[in-house]
Amino acid sequence: MSPGEPAPPLDVLVLGGGLAGAVAALAARERGARVALVRRSPGASALSSGAVGVAWDADALPGDPLRARRGWLESARRLGARRPEHPYAVVGEGLRELPAALAFAASELEALLAPPLERNRFLATAHGAALGAALCQRSMAAGDLLEVRGRLAVAGFRGHLGWDARLVAGGLARYAPLGGPEPVAVELDLFAGPGEGLLRPHELARALEPPGAAEEAGRRLREALPAGAAAALLPPVLGLRLEARVPERLSAAAGLPVAELLGDVPSVPGLRLQDAMERRLRQAGVELVEGPVERAEAPGLALLAGGRELVAGAWVLATGRYTGGGVARRGRLLEPVLGLPVHAGGEDPAGPRLHARPPAALTRAGCFEPQPLLAAGLRVDPELRPLGEDGRPFHPRLFAAGGVLGGHEPAQDGTGLGVAILTGYVAGRGAAFTSLRCAGSGFASR
Ligand SMILES: Cc1cc2nc3c(=O)[nH]c(=O)nc-3n(C[C@H](O)[C@H](O)[C@H](O)COP(=O)(O)OP(=O)(O)OC[C@H]3O[C@@H](n4cnc5c(N)ncnc54)[C@H](O)[C@@H]3O)c2cc1C
Repeated sequence: MSPGEPAPPLDVLVLGGGLAGAVAALAARERGARVALVRRSPGASALSSGAVGVAWDADALPGDPLRARRGWLESARRLGARRPEHPYAVVGEGLRELPAALAFAASELEALLAPPLERNRFLATAHGAALGAALCQRSMAAGDLLEVRGRLAVAGFRGHLGWDARLVAGGLARYAPLGGPEPVAVELDLFAGPGEGLLRPHELARALEPPGAAEEAGRRLREALPAGAAAALLPPVLGLRLEARVPERLSAAAGLPVAELLGDVPSVPGLRLQDAMERRLRQAGVELVEGPVERAEAPGLALLAGGRELVAGAWVLATGRYTGGGVARRGRLLEPVLGLPVHAGGEDPAGPRLHARPPAALTRAGCFEPQPLLAAGLRVDPELRPLGEDGRPFHPRLFAAGGVLGGHEPAQDGTGLGVAILTGYVAGRGAAFTSLRCAGSGFASR
């Protein structure tokens, strides 16, 4: 394209560069659409642990064996059946797409993600809890508590203040009677120099990348291993760049499978996820535009972002929630890009308008009680088209996906990145289909 020449029109424009936006863009691209994605910064996806929560077995008792627990698909169905406002319920028949959506995300991000199993993998946090994840990074898979056939060495860096191997091992010991391995804490003399105890996760991750560094870490680990160790768990700092192959090199030098813990904020696995998405989007031919959306009215009309005007037949709004900026708190809850109505979780459409109250009024005292503030977002129809004030789709070619959707509470129901993948997949395909079908007949703005 020569300077001054107008850009060719797009079929699909995705607003938001988290996992929901990335999956939507890739799914639309797979259907043959010309796609651009606008984002102003990383959002919640880049802060996540790096593992994808779809749903865990809410009926399991603390003493139930891990292997007896329901898998992510059945757990998602049950969650949808219990919570009619949850995106798993709202998509209706679309929930059948969940296995295809996960397989799609895993294959698009193949270098990063291990293929899904039918069950959740049980992965350790830095606090010694085991969380169920439907998808995880390859660097985490060997730490699945049901896969370790012997003792699990839980390694920390001696003197480092970020992780406590004894805390993690102590917590994981609770899962040994449930089918998990026997954990044993070990301390490695790595990063033990002056001031190194305060190195941040991304600094440690970079320090393990150069030639020889991961190998040295592996040799120290091998010397510290307890008898009968079948795998080792390390802090979540096994390299920022995938091509540095830190887990593989460390594992070869240690002589056993190694895995990293789930990431905590600031999360190296979360940054790795963001990097892998951006690379894949570029490779797949999605045009990436950096900058905030400055003006947006409706699909078919010019949208101004990053100093550029973009026109596309259909849009996918994937702007996230509070972290991403898709829902803002300005005395009340609002959706800043299009001014779509926001609903506070659990809100009865016929009842008082909770979302118009000050955000602080939307929390409840009990930490295990549903929190309307944390489940606030857009209402959508089963095709994931946001509803306007009149309860009807705001625009026939506007779709929404991910955290901007209301009705789910990732911190409580464990469905954050799972919702992003399912709804990104459904919305991206729907947007491509609608846009390509309408393209021949010419678009009207509404
Ligand atoms: C700290 C933390 C840890 C979490 N850990 C996990 C976990 O381990 N597993 C899990 O399954 N879930 C986890 N979640 C939940 C999960 O991360 C989110 O539900 C999910 O990332 C939402 O993805 P998204 O793509 O919808 O939004 P985001 O990832 O937030 O992306 C939103 C995007 O929209 C862009 N955007 C917004 N407004 C504009 C605008 N006006 N112009 C241009 N761009 C805009 C942002 O810049 C960003 O790129 C966690 C959440 C948090 C906050």
